[in-house]
Amino acid sequence: MAEEERSFRAPKGTNDVLPPDSHRWQSTMRLAMDVFGRSGYEPVETPTFEHTEVFERGVGATSEVVGKQMYTFVDRGGRSLTLRPEGTAPVVRAVLEHSLQRGALPLKLAYAGPMFRQERPQKGRYRQFWQVGIEALGSDSPVVDAEVIEVGMRFLGEAGVTPELLLNSIGHPDDSCRGGYLDVLRSFLRERTDDMAEDDRERVDTNPLRTFDSKERATVAVMKEAPVITDHLCSDCAAHFGEVRTLLDGIGVTYVLEPRLVRGLDYYTRTTFEFLAGGLGSQNAVGGGGRYDGLAESLGGEPLPGIGFALGVDRILLASEDEGAASSGVDVYVVAVGEGAAGEAFRLVTDLRRAGLGADLDLAARSMKGQMKQASSSGARWAAILGEKELASGTVTLKDLETSDQRELPRDEVVGAVLA
Ligand code: AMP
Repeated sequence: MAEEERSFRAPKGTNDVLPPDSHRWQSTMRLAMDVFGRSGYEPVETPTFEHTEVFERGVGATSEVVGKQMYTFVDRGGRSLTLRPEGTAPVVRAVLEHSLQRGALPLKLAYAGPMFRQERPQKGRYRQFWQVGIEALGSDSPVVDAEVIEVGMRFLGEAGVTPELLLNSIGHPDDSCRGGYLDVLRSFLRERTDDMAEDDRERVDTNPLRTFDSKERATVAVMKEAPVITDHLCSDCAAHFGEVRTLLDGIGVTYVLEPRLVRGLDYYTRTTFEFLAGGLGSQNAVGGGGRYDGLAESLGGEPLPGIGFALGVDRILLASEDEGAASSGVDVYVVAVGEGAAGEAFRLVTDLRRAGLGADLDLAARSMKGQMKQASSSGARWAAILGEKELASGTVTLKDLETSDQRELPRDEVVGAVLA
């Protein structure tokens, strides 16, 4: 067997999250669910794969994600399944399946988990990546839009990212609103097709809004002159957007109006937004979201307005100013050498753990010096030392690794001393 066939590597575009980085990664996910929970968003988990139709009908067949990026497979029962590329369509599917919309509204749900898209990998863009997100279902009140955006801003702030908020409204699909605008946009683009990059020309008919997302210089130049949606909103959508802005102004959330902001997934209506962060190069969006008032109906349900966002954990960590390693969770490292030390150390570490403290010990028979080194790299505040002297006298030397102060105390007082 050739050498390369014997050594395995993770699939292209995926990451192993390893210590010490895994601490920051996990604490960011926890922080998200904590911040969301404090605003009334309850945790929800859905399967990592769904029937392919959930995304085809939910996210939309003309979107890049569904058309080009899904990991779709046929299982042994002949069903077409897809690893979820995003979290909103699955959450709405679950709500409808379990009729949660019959209960008190709005439903406020939060999730954290891996998503899968077969994109060309680069810094900040992976094939398995992690999102945290919230969804508020069952209300079209602008207060919900403002709340969702504020929750996102606050979490990102607590996670060490100071985002720029781009805000837009893309109206609703009827001819009186976005439908009419799309006709205007299409006519404009048809006149200018020859000036656009070749790859973007096909979109003029299939998904004209997406031409705003093009990174091709020729297309970008054309789009600068294109008519914008905000000049064509119906009066209801315009008023709704006005209220969202007033509410955000009222709580001091600043934003940049970006009438060319269109989001990649087809289900969006009305308010759309994106959070941008510096230091990420071309993948500068840490998250985004918007209203999706028609999604429940696309999935076969009754009308159920909704709004939410998804934030990319991988990018939050890349953008975070808070580079400090999160705590490892170990408060006390037990250092023990000498006759009978291993058993005593194990008893002490168990006492500490049973008292709810984080505790660890040497399991490799290191020297005293080696164990002290382990103690300091463990991130523990305290070393509990069991040397020959302590073993003989039933005591422990408790060393504060920050100040280097130490004192000897009876073994049954260690837990109390650490907790004090
Ligand atoms: P979207 O679901 O496309 O609106 O993406 C929301 C956020 O998820 C983005 O702003 C990114 O932070 C993150 N994200 C989306 N796709 C990827 C990817 N392929 N790799 C890493 N993060 C991603």
